[in-house]
Amino acid sequence: MIGAMQDWPLTLGRLIDHAAVNHPQREIVSLLVEGGEHRTNWAEVRDRARRLAAGLTALGMRPDDRIATLAWNTHRHVECLYGIAGMGGVAHTINPRLFDDQIVFIANHAADRVLLFDLSFIALVERIAPRLETIEHFVVLTDRAHMPESSLDLMCYEELGSAADPDFAWVAREENAPAGLCYTSGTTGNPKGVLYSHRSTVLHAMAACTADAFAIGARTVALPVSPIYHASAWSIPYASAVAGAKLVLAGPHFDGATLQRLIVAEDVDFALAVPTIWLTMLHYLDASGLGLGKLDRLAIGGSAVPRSMIEAFAARGVTVSHLWGMTEMSPVGSVGAPTPEIVAQGDEADLAARMKQGRALFGVEMKVVDDANADCPRDGTSFGRLLVRGPWTVATYFRGDGGQVTDAEGWFDTGDVATIDRFGYMAIVDRSKDVIKSGGEWISSIELENAAVGCPGVLEAAVIGVPHPKWDERPLLIVVRKPGASVTRADMLAYLTGRIAKWWMPDDVVFIDELPHTATGKLLKTALREQFRGHVLAA
Ligand code: AMP
Repeated sequence: MIGAMQDWPLTLGRLIDHAAVNHPQREIVSLLVEGGEHRTNWAEVRDRARRLAAGLTALGMRPDDRIATLAWNTHRHVECLYGIAGMGGVAHTINPRLFDDQIVFIANHAADRVLLFDLSFIALVERIAPRLETIEHFVVLTDRAHMPESSLDLMCYEELGSAADPDFAWVAREENAPAGLCYTSGTTGNPKGVLYSHRSTVLHAMAACTADAFAIGARTVALPVSPIYHASAWSIPYASAVAGAKLVLAGPHFDGATLQRLIVAEDVDFALAVPTIWLTMLHYLDASGLGLGKLDRLAIGGSAVPRSMIEAFAARGVTVSHLWGMTEMSPVGSVGAPTPEIVAQGDEADLAARMKQGRALFGVEMKVVDDANADCPRDGTSFGRLLVRGPWTVATYFRGDGGQVTDAEGWFDTGDVATIDRFGYMAIVDRSKDVIKSGGEWISSIELENAAVGCPGVLEAAVIGVPHPKWDERPLLIVVRKPGASVTRADMLAYLTGRIAKWWMPDDVVFIDELPHTATGKLLKTALREQFRGHVLAA
């Protein structure tokens, strides 16, 4: 047939050019590691990304080379994402909260050639440098005045691009070429690399902007507290460039006081982070009596959002969208926004829907299958393994690690157990490794935890299965009290009565000072199971 549309590769160079041309003055505000606040805009970020691309090329970097960052959310980190991809390279964002051995493993596995890092990590980098086998250049993300004394031969970020060609042309790449790399946090075994392409990143960003996903537009002021090193801050540095949103970046700060101040001062109306950040924020707001300015929407994900959190923010005029995703999905899979049917049913139905993990975006196919691999009905109660596929879902891990990770039809097993209801809302029951098997039935540790954190005096709660001679496993509730609170085992059990099925009632409650977390802020259940191995349930 004669006639065709244009072949216009979806590349990150085109995306940042779009932002520079169409939203040149829209701001990007960062809190810097060196202290103080920095203001720039999309036009300047594009120009500096271009110079960085030119500087890296002058250093001998070539298309497909991996270039690593160890950095907080700042304008410089955003420039790195675009500059590295723009010279044809792959921006490998490393999570600085990983253990030294894991960072060394992934940098060597990725064969990173350059490491760009924030000043906060100088001691870390000096410590691991002898074990980094492929890094040729260490670049500090700062200016000359703040360059640290070091035994390493360090380059200064602000000088790397300053002498380089400001008219550098983006290296032409096809849209399926790699642009980013992020390793899974790997609570068991070695972390695995997920290689994002230009196309997957752009499609994911466009989907993230849509109304029932993050609803990002030119008037949005977005604060991604979710770090760039954890699956590109859930697409916000890209989605904001699509839409022309103002971007507010908190640098090394995650505390309630700094984030609250930033939200009010910069008129942030949309912020994103894992539940623990918002838990800290709610305590800070209660203690300080301060408010959240123009903030009216939060996207929360990474772990399940408890009902008490959704209600606490609603009382402050802030709507919570629950999202679910994973590093393997760039990361956004589903986001909760009420459908007309939910709205018609009133507030309680709205709250119940918000507690679920949301509906699939276009670009994500989801299904739940039983042990025999048969599709489960979309009835909201049948649960099984959650499978996904789509253009921003992993096909194979970097270097083929883990072998074939999708089935013959391209479905990827998320490792989560879930239900899907007739409106398309997916609800995570548990990680398949964490679900508690009691008397042939399953108990959701997530639902128990969410109920437990609603109890006054509870800061955080975790539930694990412990072996039981009759029932296989029974739930053990582990609680961290709020400072000064004196909530007891009996209080906890009384609070849960009527809120959960009778046979889900934990057999025991223990109180500890702190729960272990992964580098991405999730409960580290493997460590808890180890700690409470052999725990004898109270009679
Ligand atoms: P990561 O790749 O580190 O982002 O971890 C992905 C995993 O986090 C998922 O497979 C889920 O087990 C968990 N997860 C993410 N979002 C949620 C959520 N909203 N509720 C419950 N678990 C979640």
